[in-house]
Amino acid sequence: MHRLDTFPERVENIVQAVAKTRPEPGAALVEWDPPSVGPGEVLIRVAAASICGTDVHIYSWDNWAQSRIKLPQILGHEHAGYVETVGPEVHHVQPGDYVTAETHIYCGRCYLCQTGNAHICRHMEILGVDRDGTFAEYLAVPESVVWKNDPQLAPRVATVMEPFGNAVHVVMKAEVPAKTVVIIGDGPTGLLAAGVARAAGAAAVWTVGLLDYRLQIASQLGADSIVNASGEDPVSTVKRQTDGLGADVVLEMSGADVALPQALEIVRPGGRIIAFGIPSRPLTLNTSDVVFKEVELLGAVGRRIFATWHHSQRFLSQVDVERVITDEFPLSRWQEGMDKVLRREAIKVVLYPGA
Ligand SMILES: [Zn+2]
Ligand SMILES: [Zn+2]
Repeated sequence: MHRLDTFPERVENIVQAVAKTRPEPGAALVEWDPPSVGPGEVLIRVAAASICGTDVHIYSWDNWAQSRIKLPQILGHEHAGYVETVGPEVHHVQPGDYVTAETHIYCGRCYLCQTGNAHICRHMEILGVDRDGTFAEYLAVPESVVWKNDPQLAPRVATVMEPFGNAVHVVMKAEVPAKTVVIIGDGPTGLLAAGVARAAGAAAVWTVGLLDYRLQIASQLGADSIVNASGEDPVSTVKRQTDGLGADVVLEMSGADVALPQALEIVRPGGRIIAFGIPSRPLTLNTSDVVFKEVELLGAVGRRIFATWHHSQRFLSQVDVERVITDEFPLSRWQEGMDKVLRREAIKVVLYPGA
């Protein structure tokens, strides 16, 4: 990649970024050369970025992170910002545009991309995982993944549109209108899914989680019932409240080892399970239940590009996304935000580079 001759002067300065520099738990605030943009690429000045579970995996340096991440690597993928400059052969994005990039960078040429499944592209690179991420003052991405934000949306909300899109994708895949819906998981995507399911016309929504302060937010977002699984068995509660039938749809959005087996018990015969949470190790499932109950067990990842972004925009008037934002810090104080996430005292932490 070559650097543009017209690169703006102030970008020539070294910028701050939160990076994984060593193969061990932790990360560091570092000084970094600003990214350069090549043909078809766009340089975004990051106005807000937010901490996601994926960043926590990389920070903690778990098995998945060790096998996937090449060091050094700037963390982060969720963001909103302003286009600073564009490379040659960029046609639809201009300096000053208020944007968020889809974090799954697709090739546009493989079988999956060409059949409407770019979000599971065979050659996909994920921001902050396979290439430098958004916990920095500047970010370079291909024009093909740039989404222009509604100017009414504050950067703190626009940065959360990426995980909100996860929730929208999962709920749309589940086809919830007039259905009874159980959501397992009280992280940001699980909480937002309660609001989306309600807005999408679910007949009843249960949210199953472990932390009361989060379950309260599920209620505020639209869950009819909340179940704290640390003191109550979600399987018997849902069965009791559905005449022993079980729920039409179960959205597994926690990644807890017990959750998918539980989902299989909670779902009614002929019902649908969407698996979105990622367990830390392979699970044992009673697959004869999948057979005898004729359960549809489907996976969901990322967002459909860009169908889900359009749907998310439409759901915004009915789902109060801001309720999941609990903390905000300048990027220089990222460690405080990460610590609150690790202690499960925060839901969504927004960071402000350049602040
Ligand atoms: Zn995320
Ligand atoms: Zn592709």
